[in-house]
Amino acid sequence: MTDQLPPPVLIADSPAIDFLNSVAVPVDTKVEWLRSGEDLITWLLQAGMLPTDIPPIVRKASAPGELDAVAGQARALREWFRKFVDAHKGRPLKPKALQELGPLNRILARDEEFGQVVAREKIRRVRPASAEDSGPESVSGLVWSPQRRWRSPDSLLLPIARAMAELICENDFTHVKACEGHNCVLMFVDRTRGRARRWCSMAVCGNRAKQAAHRERAHLARK
Ligand SMILES: [Zn+2]
Repeated sequence: MTDQLPPPVLIADSPAIDFLNSVAVPVDTKVEWLRSGEDLITWLLQAGMLPTDIPPIVRKASAPGELDAVAGQARALREWFRKFVDAHKGRPLKPKALQELGPLNRILARDEEFGQVVAREKIRRVRPASAEDSGPESVSGLVWSPQRRWRSPDSLLLPIARAMAELICENDFTHVKACEGHNCVLMFVDRTRGRARRWCSMAVCGNRAKQAAHRERAHLARK
């Protein structure tokens, strides 16, 4: 089911916003990266949100049709979160936003996360190493590695919900932005120093805007 899909758009500098971008219009037609359960697994692997040894475990625990149903839940979670982000982006989150977060906290309550002490080099690199992980202060050869019990297919929603919680708790929503590109639906967290990011990517929407401005100037010059 994944043969026709282009690579996912992972430009958001935030896994939770990358997840919102799992339906988009990369060229002219809308692409849905989460059509099925297998699509969802593929997307999570490509986004670095699922350890590579987990898909066989989840498939085995799944009744026929169950994985596809989870993909439906993932799409519903995505569109619910899009409404929340759209309503709150551009300014810091207030404590009263919690009133809207019941659906997210209900998913998070199902999580069976635990930790293990592992050798530093053996830690599974699900996400790129953080700076503090490899910094000069890392004197111990052992490290805390968060793990999760993947008991049923709907555990696939947990890394997504966790990413949403991290975006909400650890980021300034002032810097959550929508691409300014014409007809572009992609969003991102602006982590640039001057907070001047305007485009999903310079190569796509940035360039289009530059060309449009150029055409406009050329048109005015001819007048
Ligand atoms: Zn764009």
